[in-house]
Amino acid sequence: MSNLALLGGTPVREKLFPAHKFIAKEEKAAVSAVVETGILSRYIGAQHPDFMGGPQVKAFEEAWAEGYGAEHAVAMNSATSGLFAAAGAAAIGPGDEVIVSPYTMMASVTAAIVFNAVPVFADIDPGTFCLSAETIRAKITPRTKAIIVVHIFGQTADMDPIMALAKEHGLIVIEDAAQCPFATYKGRPAGTLGHMGVFSLNYHKHVHTGEGGVVSTNDADLAEKLRLIRNHAEAVVGKRGVTDLVNMVGFNFRMGEIEAAIGLCQLAKGPELIRRRQANVAHLETRLAGVPGLNMPVVGDGNAHVYYVHAITYDPVAMDLPRNVFVEALKSELPATELREGEGPLMGVGYVRPIYLEPMFQERMAYGNLGCPFACPHYKGEVNYDQGLCPETERAHFETLITHEMMRPPMTTADLDDVANAVQKVVENLPALRDYAARTGATTG
Ligand SMILES: *Cc1c(COP(=O)(O)O)cnc(C)c1O
Repeated sequence: MSNLALLGGTPVREKLFPAHKFIAKEEKAAVSAVVETGILSRYIGAQHPDFMGGPQVKAFEEAWAEGYGAEHAVAMNSATSGLFAAAGAAAIGPGDEVIVSPYTMMASVTAAIVFNAVPVFADIDPGTFCLSAETIRAKITPRTKAIIVVHIFGQTADMDPIMALAKEHGLIVIEDAAQCPFATYKGRPAGTLGHMGVFSLNYHKHVHTGEGGVVSTNDADLAEKLRLIRNHAEAVVGKRGVTDLVNMVGFNFRMGEIEAAIGLCQLAKGPELIRRRQANVAHLETRLAGVPGLNMPVVGDGNAHVYYVHAITYDPVAMDLPRNVFVEALKSELPATELREGEGPLMGVGYVRPIYLEPMFQERMAYGNLGCPFACPHYKGEVNYDQGLCPETERAHFETLITHEMMRPPMTTADLDDVANAVQKVVENLPALRDYAARTGATTG
């Protein structure tokens, strides 16, 4: 039994893990072809055929829609832009409440704020880390306008009951599928289960264009609103004969031709990259099976999990050790990943702090200094952002969740075995770690 690196021993591995990099000759050729044309973006913010963008953008949208079995795919310059456009298309506005998860990337929440609506946080289901119909139902009021369901970590929320609930109350459902491209729910693709589905193509996602995003929908009216908000709606609605002017305040959310050309290449690579993630997780989970106190993510029947991160639930009681000490010891055994050397091993305690704990919500300060949208005179509710609001989220974040990215391709079986060996080593040395925790006074987290 070798000594833990945290306690002065030799780490399991020091050589960096391989970079997650899938930009290759195909992308280079596609970019060169665009550069040759001299036209890097074709958009015009006026009523004109080029209002819809150039040939690469159109081809990318077509390929995405076809690949997803969605009627419409609208390319954006980020998923944040996509979420903002979707919130606008959903006619969210002052006085409205939008139910959203507190365990997500901030943009899922600011999509409501940007249209002066008030985010209302519902708790996560501890199995999927996503909202559930039960947690959403408890937060519905006469002011609720929409639900932003975040398919966090790579698996969808349990959507059938959520869609039934939304129908019962006449609510729009936006799926934040940024971490869930190519995933399925009961055999149906993530992002096509609600009224609109938003995907991210930023550098960290499964497939990427540097920065980019897509919104898919089967509703032609919503698709038209998304395209208008993407491209200076207010300048175009008159000539386009649009009569419903709600949220027809446009931005520039346009994707360029270079990104779209890269997106076409990446879209083709997506399924194989996902398959490798799934195989890597399967290998890791086989190696970790039987470690008491580490519970692997549970995948629902008919679902395909695409593992944006691998979310492991730690049981501090079974381990008789606070999670943070376990993770500190584990990280000491492992190296960083190439291209992200400065970040240390790609593993962490929890994910992001429950969003309502951030200053915007604690201080209720967003637009201007008068407290809008929280204190907007059109808002008749009183929203709670107190610590303790979402106990499952807080427990996951502060006590039980471990997330890591060390299953991304091109991790090899040997690389994965190093990760598993490190876990094994820490587990074999639990008594020494418990002494260390007692000495350093670590009691929680
Ligand atoms: C990455 C991410 C976003 C935002 O994506 P961008 O393309 O960077 O704007 C939104 N929601 C979730 C859940 C994400 O992971």
